[in-house]
Amino acid sequence: MIVVETIGEMQSYIKEQKQNGFKVGFVPTMGFLHEGHVSLMHRANQECDIVVTSIFVNPTQFGPNEDFERYPRDFEWDERIAKDNGSDVLFYPSSTQMYPNEAGTKLTVTKRTNRLCGEKRPGHFDGVVTVLTKLFHIIQPDRAYFGQKDAQQVAVVDDLINSYFFPIELVVCPTIREEDGLAKSSRNVNLNDDERQIAPKLYEALNEAREKAQKGETVFEIRQALSDTLDRLERGETDYVEILSYPELEPIKTFDQKTIIALAYRFESARLIDNIII
Ligand code: AMP
Repeated sequence: MIVVETIGEMQSYIKEQKQNGFKVGFVPTMGFLHEGHVSLMHRANQECDIVVTSIFVNPTQFGPNEDFERYPRDFEWDERIAKDNGSDVLFYPSSTQMYPNEAGTKLTVTKRTNRLCGEKRPGHFDGVVTVLTKLFHIIQPDRAYFGQKDAQQVAVVDDLINSYFFPIELVVCPTIREEDGLAKSSRNVNLNDDERQIAPKLYEALNEAREKAQKGETVFEIRQALSDTLDRLERGETDYVEILSYPELEPIKTFDQKTIIALAYRFESARLIDNIII
């Protein structure tokens, strides 16, 4: 595996691979890699000739009072995990490489962002599509791999790819969980011991909601019960609980279409998100 830190070097590497007719798979990440990221690398490795994993904690997708500074980072760890799990290239650009000057053209997401994290984190998805547009242009992947854990991100990227004719196949991979059900996340290291004990209850609550949907309870009842369950947890507080159509993310009254049940929950030093699709 090679580590590439400059855009110029990345572009010439990709040009060469494309001339050889190789299919490029791309796994964009913010690092502090775990089995969720690894599952994307493995899938990319199965389906593509070359796997490029990027590590970039993108400042433009963090709000002023969010955890940009506190976001965990460990490049040596990431390098080893990427190398051992089928990445051919680790793209590790600096902020000045990615944002050399104030761009005169801005990207704004106007669909699928007025709810969930889009509502709670204003500007977050503008930052996500801005960095992904840059990365897609640099890496020119044939396929890009994303986790269902960030379901709204998947919905937004799906729209970005379609609206701007990126010749990229979006591959969505299932959420990888700890044995107790907690969705793997780089932010889990910021949970204290008590919070870590409680955190799996988020996924339990989502599963209870799924069972209620299967038994025929209404969207309204299930959302209310889920919200009540989270309110009873002994630490933290609910950021949102929503039941929406997927990937459109519109309110629904009945479960007669693909539906997401999603939540965000704030512990002291980590805000966690999780969802299930039914
Ligand atoms: P991040 O480093 O958190 O920006 O995540 C990079 C990619 O890994 C995104 O596509 C995430 O959806 C995906 N990802 C993060 N956690 C998981 C997980 N537990 N299971 C599957 N994919 C994940």
